[in-house]
Order: sequence, then structure tokens, then C-alpha cells
Amino acid sequence: MLDTIVGTHGDKSATADHEAPLDLAARRARRWREMLDMVGVSYTIDAAILLIYAYAGTIAFTIPLGYLACGLLAVAAFIAISETGLNKRFREYSFVALQTGVSLAIMLLFAYLAPEVGILFVCSIFLIFTFAALRSTPRQTILGWTAASLGLAILFCLTDRPVAMPVATPLERLASMLVFVLVLGRGMMVGLFSSTLRDSLYKRGIELREAYRRIQELAELDELTGALNRRSIMQSLDEEIIRAHRTSGNCTVALIDLDLFKRINDQFGHPAGDEVLRTFAITIFANIRSIDKFGRYGGEEFLLILPETTDSAAHRTIDRLRGIVAELDWIAISHGLAVTMSAGVATLRAGDTIDSILTRADAALYRAKALGRNQVISA
Ligand code: GH3
Ligand code: MG
Ligand code: MG
Repeated sequence: MLDTIVGTHGDKSATADHEAPLDLAARRARRWREMLDMVGVSYTIDAAILLIYAYAGTIAFTIPLGYLACGLLAVAAFIAISETGLNKRFREYSFVALQTGVSLAIMLLFAYLAPEVGILFVCSIFLIFTFAALRSTPRQTILGWTAASLGLAILFCLTDRPVAMPVATPLERLASMLVFVLVLGRGMMVGLFSSTLRDSLYKRGIELREAYRRIQELAELDELTGALNRRSIMQSLDEEIIRAHRTSGNCTVALIDLDLFKRINDQFGHPAGDEVLRTFAITIFANIRSIDKFGRYGGEEFLLILPETTDSAAHRTIDRLRGIVAELDWIAISHGLAVTMSAGVATLRAGDTIDSILTRADAALYRAKALGRNQVISA
């Protein structure tokens, strides 16, 4: 549900903001495909440098060709796994681990076959691990490091030829320089990738907070009128009573009921009745202080809490609201429509509870109705 509210803006690979969120599996498949493409490009760059070494006469031409074949074959195999959906059996972490293992094996194999240009494979191992570290669990990082150490140990046992960085001729120097320049460049790309990941996580966090705020708002407000819902207004009343008792301050509440609302519904229709409720709530909101709390108590009955307000001040305020409601241009909703309200006002007394103050306000409201409606009565 959160995902629907938040959307997928946070995900770098997600579609534009207004599009429906892709399902998780499709997003994951695309991310893997992007990653595999990057790995393929990386093997091609390495092969190109190896080709320069081959031209320089440092290694045989079979090395760059064999390296490219191995690399692209591995990538193709992973793409095939990904396309056939076989990877759905893997967790993302395991897939990265497998890929890291294969890349590591290729580097160690070619460092063994062509130690004359070993610097390239050693640098690539650093690159592989930098990239894998971004997507691995701590356990996998330790396992990967152990595997790399074992592989290197075997390599160092198997060959006594130096793992070298050729610099004898200008062409060799160019190729060796390119090894560093391009590995550094790809390392920076990995850094960039991790920073976009961080950015999108940060954005996602903001969106989640906003969604949480929306959910809270939805849980607190009455859908039709935008006033606090019954649960919220009762909670506010509870808090205000506790506060007024603690500070020996004033607090006045009013139960407000629309007059002959049943008749309005019958005469003008239920949708017009709804519109009356909405307009009434907006009118009240526009004419109370920010510290006042206004909520829908039920049906066409509302509760207004006026903190730090004496009985007489509250009576004046609510009578002013009554006047505003009575004089509002209700015919904008329906021709011939007129709306009035009645209110029962009660001020907090020592020892009052929610029930006792509401009972007094309700009795006052009943008197206002009995006295002919469109009036405010204090308990
Ligand atoms: P009184 O002046 O004595 O309060 O008369 P009344 O007709 O307002 O009192 P009553 O409580 O009998 O009727 C309230 C009506 O309010 C009945 C109900 O159908 C209507 N009502 C309650 N909630 C809604 C709502 O969300 N929308 C609409 N349109 N009508 C509602
Ligand atoms: Mg009514
Ligand atoms: Mg009523």
C-alpha cells in the first residue's frame, strides 16, 4: 500500500513519476540487465588494452581474444539466466556473489596465463570487489575476500614469473597507463553509482515521511467535511480537559447541530445535504482560532472545543458563528435552501470529565432546539 502512495520515484531505474509502479521482479530484472551490460563493456575495455599489449609484442594475440571470449561468454550466460527467468530462484545477493566468483576466476586464470601484463588483472580484481561490496552482505564480503585470497595464494604457488607491469616500450607504457586511467575511471563510476543509490534512498525516505503524514491525516480527518473525525476530536477533548485541569485554565465546548437537516435532505437531496455539511465545516474553520478544535461528532452534529475561553466569551463566539451560518448564501447550493444551527455550550468545571461536560452541552443543545432552534444556549 505504501508503495502505491509513495510510487517508485526513489528507484533510479523506475519509470517517470506519473507511471504506474513496475512490479518488483521486472525492476530487478532490468537492474540486472543494466549491470550485466556494464560488466560486458568492462571486459571489452580490458580486451582493448590487452590488444595494445599484443601489438607491442608483450603477449600473444590469443590472450586478448581468449579474455574477451571468456568475459563475454560469462556475461552472455548470465544474461541467458536473467532472460529465462532462472534468476528468480536466486536472491539478488546470491546472483551478485556468483557473478563476482566467475569474474574473479577469469582474472586469476589470465593472471596465470599472462603474468607479463598481470597488473591489468590485479587492478580488475580491485574493481570487481569495489562493485561487489556495494551489493553484498557482510558474510558474502568475507567469503569473497577468502575466495580471492585462496585464488591468489594458488596463483602465487603455481607461477614464479613476476606479475608485471610492462613499461619497456612506448606502446607498453601507453597500455599500462591506460590500465590505471580506465580502472580509476570505472572505480569512479562505481562511486557515482553508489552516490545515486544514496540519493535515491534519501528521496525515498522523504517520500515515506510524506506518505506517513498523509496516512496520519487520513486517519484523523473526517472524509466528507475535512473536520477532525470523532475519534480525533474526542482525543483532543480529553487532552484539553487534562490540560485545563492541570493549569486551572478555562475550556469551553459547544455541541453544534444543524437545524432540521432531515428536511434539507428530503427537500434538496442527499448530495445537497453533503454539500451543506462541507460548506458549514469550511465556514466554521474560517472563523475560529488556530488553537480551537473542530470535529464531526456524528451525522450533522459537530463538536467545537475552545481552549482558554470563558463561558461568556465562548457564547459570543458561537453566537457570531450562528449568525454567519444563518446569513450565508446557501442558495448557491440549491435554490430556496436556508441553513441554521443550534448550539449547546458548556464550560469546564472542577472535577468535570468528558462525559459530564458533554452531557451538560447536550442538555443545553436540547433546550436550544426546544426554544425554536437557530440559537445558542449555555448550560
Ligand atoms: P433537528 O433540528 O432537531 O436537529 O432536526 P434534524 O432533522 O436535523 O435531526 P435528525 O437528527 O432527525 O436528522 C439528522 C439527519 O441528518 C438525518 C440524516 O439522514 C442526516 N445525515 C446524517 N449524516 C449525513 C451525511 O453525511 N450526509 C447527509 N446528506 N445527511 C446526513
Ligand atoms: Mg439536526
Ligand atoms: Mg442531530
